[in-house]
Amino acid sequence: MLSTGSSPDGINAWSDNWQLLAIMGFAWTGWIHSTWSLETMLKTGFVGLGAMGLPMARNLHKAGLLSAVWNRTPGKASDLSRETGCLHCDGLEELATHCDVIVTCVSADQDLLTVAEGLATGVGPGDVVLDCSTVDSKTALAVDRILSHMGAGFLDCPVSGGTEGARLGTLSIMVGGDTDGLNRAAPVLEAMGRTIVHVGPVGAGQAAKATNQIMVAGINQAVTEALAFGQAHGLPMDRLIEALSEGAASNWFLSHRGPTMIKGEYPLGFKVMLHQKDLGICAGMAAQKGVKLPIVEMTRIHYRRLMEQGHGESDISSLFVLKEEMFSTVDG
Ligand code: NAP
Repeated sequence: MLSTGSSPDGINAWSDNWQLLAIMGFAWTGWIHSTWSLETMLKTGFVGLGAMGLPMARNLHKAGLLSAVWNRTPGKASDLSRETGCLHCDGLEELATHCDVIVTCVSADQDLLTVAEGLATGVGPGDVVLDCSTVDSKTALAVDRILSHMGAGFLDCPVSGGTEGARLGTLSIMVGGDTDGLNRAAPVLEAMGRTIVHVGPVGAGQAAKATNQIMVAGINQAVTEALAFGQAHGLPMDRLIEALSEGAASNWFLSHRGPTMIKGEYPLGFKVMLHQKDLGICAGMAAQKGVKLPIVEMTRIHYRRLMEQGHGESDISSLFVLKEEMFSTVDG
């Protein structure tokens, strides 16, 4: 019973109860409507069940949205199909025909173009494809052209937050595309990310992601070089990181990767070879503006050296190895 504290007579009490029932009925109808909407309006398919894609697809399943999957190596898709009960499609055309919203998360530009060509045979008007891979803005525009010929919408939706963010559903998602597509795909994006920011038309999402990757390179350079310097000066490294983490130079990479890198450990994280691929995209996009970016060019040289030393699969904090080497060379 609803007690208002100001209705001593029976009529008001009845009226309050009626209002409660009406509110409950409305809420129930709303719940049914939203559940119905999610299941019937947004049959969502996922393509690319890699380190990022698999946990993102699992979050779509938790939100009741995952309807079908396809992966180049079929075993990953059949495993997820068994785990979640979603459809394992034989090909991209079948997945595109079955779904209203399709999320892709594949390795690189040419892979995405191949996948888009495969999806184009099955998509139609009203469908929306969301790409969460990291590729060049020009590739996003090319994919948009391929899909728009079939009447389907496209949003470039690159993500930041790594495999941990993918698992926890806390990714930051930078969206390029029109607002109609974004409104339609919003429940899908909300199931995978915590921060979803519309940054402009198709291609703008990838430009934002490239901006992020340049910043990550600069932070990696600054933190690894400065900590190697501190170490060469015989400072107590744990206490140094504690002090710097509370000052003007504080940042996430210092507090989370600093303590492991000074022990010679580089837990993933974000692979050197993936960041190298992204910096290639950044260099290409800067070149389109007639510019060479010093941080990008320097980091690409350093990563190439790291990869030659067998660190391609290591976390990007392994750049510390090269910075330490500079000081040992001088000492020797
Ligand atoms: P990953 O573990 O290597 O997975 C790549 C996925 O793409 C796999 O499912 C792979 O299929 C599929 N694929 C590759 N080439 C393909 C092709 N030609 N046709 C169809 N499928 C293809 O990579 P990831 O770490 O998940 O990264 C995926 C994307 O997210 C990349 O663009 C990456 O830059 C970006 N990203 C990664 C991170 C991160 O921390 N890892 C963070 C943010 C963004 P198979 O299973 O058959 O190999």
